Amino acid sequence: MSFTDLGLRAEILRAIAEEGYTEPTPIQAKAIPVVLAGRDLMAAAQTGTGKTAGFTLPILQLLSTKPAAARGKPRVLVLTPTRELAAQVEESVRTYGHFLPLKTALVFGGVGIGPQIKALKAGVDILVATPGRLLDHVGQRTVDLSGIEILVLDEADRMLDMGFIHDIKKVLALVPKQKQTLLFSATFSDEIRGLANGLLRDPQLVEVAPRNATADLVTQRVYPVDKAKKRDLLIKLIDDHHWHQVLVFMRTKHGANTLAEKLNKADISAAAIHGNKSQGARTRALADFKSMKLNVLVATDIAARGLDIDQLPHVVNFELPNVPEDYVHRIGRTGRAGSSGHAVSLVCIDELGLLRDIERLLKKPIEKIVLPGFEPDPSIRAEPIENGKRSGQRPGQRSGQSKGGQRQGNVPKPGAPQRSGKPPQRGNPARGNASQHHSGSRGR
Ligand code: AMP
Repeated sequence: MSFTDLGLRAEILRAIAEEGYTEPTPIQAKAIPVVLAGRDLMAAAQTGTGKTAGFTLPILQLLSTKPAAARGKPRVLVLTPTRELAAQVEESVRTYGHFLPLKTALVFGGVGIGPQIKALKAGVDILVATPGRLLDHVGQRTVDLSGIEILVLDEADRMLDMGFIHDIKKVLALVPKQKQTLLFSATFSDEIRGLANGLLRDPQLVEVAPRNATADLVTQRVYPVDKAKKRDLLIKLIDDHHWHQVLVFMRTKHGANTLAEKLNKADISAAAIHGNKSQGARTRALADFKSMKLNVLVATDIAARGLDIDQLPHVVNFELPNVPEDYVHRIGRTGRAGSSGHAVSLVCIDELGLLRDIERLLKKPIEKIVLPGFEPDPSIRAEPIENGKRSGQRPGQRSGQSKGGQRQGNVPKPGAPQRSGKPPQRGNPARGNASQHHSGSRGR
């Protein structure tokens, strides 16, 4: 199938061609006809699948062919969980809409509201926003959502995880009942289905496989190693293999900061990116990373979610995520756009239960390599996983569900270097007694 087969107009096809896209990705091939037909859509697709163009292209087509129902008001609202994702979606809208006379605006928190008010006043067709700041604008009457014809909830699962449900409900009360709604989510949890039931009318379901769960393009490896030696092992891997553009995942903001500092001390240029960083610092870090001025970006899950970094060669899980699906999201940062990628996980004894959950989700074991000098010490006992300072967990939060406790996991026998395709045989699935509190880059 080609983009021309999808019936997109010449201006859009030209913009796509300039981006170098030759054929639609699976989510685009499935979603675009549904959106063009005016139907509601519930799509399971994550970042890396081309989902943004999957909704942006047909929306541009619809807007440029249909006259506006209400003049001077935004016609499309795209809600995203994070500032980074909002910025990336808006950039995509600008790119794909380059040859069309449509106006876009970007609204998110953490930056001055003045320029946003100015942009809104100038008239906007497509508004991309995070929920908190959007409601601030509504409160100040600087935006009127009564002309919305199409509503997109992007990464809806993440918005719910981040506690945006009340904000979303407030927004829903402000947009017209008669509209087209497109909901994108990495997973269809019960919570997402609940939201969709109240929101979508006779939706068409579209699902594509998590891009990298099965992709041969990504080499996945686990390095069993003691917690205290992870940092040295990471430095060794980066140095020995001359890795550039390494995205490293940490569970906590504090951990991300400390690791970035230590890497810099070891002469590996690194920056941390997480919700406590100012918008300016995050944008700068991302730009430096993309332009290869920075070698390593150390990120928390929320901050990394939605980052559009093309052809990222290396992803390192310095710590495994509490939720197995997050592993798939993380490694989805590599092996994109037809290039091969490496996903490496440094796994200590405390994390063997998490590793087992991940392998169960992937339905395959991940290759283990023990490096000489980094053999796990068999006398070290597993401890509950530390998730950093966080006070209390919201009920129903999805990560770190179990009460936790001490875990006795097996460690591969010292020896060098070992390779085995077998998942750990034992190991209590308990996941530690603290849970990940997703407190990343909220939209306010
Ligand atoms: P997304 O899942 O929307 O974050 O898109 C992931 C990446 O795929 C982005 O860098 C897009 O520019 C790229 N992309 C989107 N559609 C296509 C396509 N049809 N062919 C090649 N690359 C694409």
